[in-house]
Amino acid sequence: DRSAGRVGGLNPETGDSDAKNLRVKLVLLGDSGVGKSCIVLRFVRGQFDPTSKVTVGASFLSQTIALQDSTTVKFEIWDTAGQERYAALAPLYYRGAAVAVVVYDITNPHSFHKAQYWVKELQKHGSPDIVLALVGNKADLQDKREVSVQDGTEYAEKNGMFFIETSAKTADNINQLFEEIAKRLPRPSSS
Ligand code: GDP
Repeated sequence: DRSAGRVGGLNPETGDSDAKNLRVKLVLLGDSGVGKSCIVLRFVRGQFDPTSKVTVGASFLSQTIALQDSTTVKFEIWDTAGQERYAALAPLYYRGAAVAVVVYDITNPHSFHKAQYWVKELQKHGSPDIVLALVGNKADLQDKREVSVQDGTEYAEKNGMFFIETSAKTADNINQLFEEIAKRLPRPSSS
């Protein structure tokens, strides 16, 4: 079943499809050190703790958010646990993902180029209706910026992606990132 684990309703009682309660697999991709773990921990636990790495082998962290139309979205967030280094493993990782968040560090142009590599990978191998977000993290480090807002915006626009700059350190735009993703998810029709 290709759709298993993808966007689909989840009624917590019955496990049945439920247009009001979405459950989605979300993967993060990007160079090591751009802040993927910190973004997840900021979103899920509300803290910035660079020493607390998501344990290798842990399946995922999850976090549910409520939208204004009273639907909920439960994100099952998969951390690469360093596997982004092994390009061959990547398709296993993002198979079935409804959302891919590609992260770079605004102080590191190499990480921006690497992000573009991941976008191409996802366009080739990800599911056709995957929601793609491009995130320029470490936006608190303005004086060290080497990737302009315009570069991020233009690349995202060209590729039909949602773009946002975040700071896991200050919490800037972290919740907004996930809310905007939630709004862009295809909805199962309520029958
Ligand atoms: P990952 O390898 O992509 O998961 O990156 P981590 O989440 O482990 O973060 C790598 C380093 O970047 C850590 O030392 C964090 O302290 C730092 N970091 C992460 N996010 C931010 C941020 O928004 N601002 C700043 N200034 N540092 C950050």
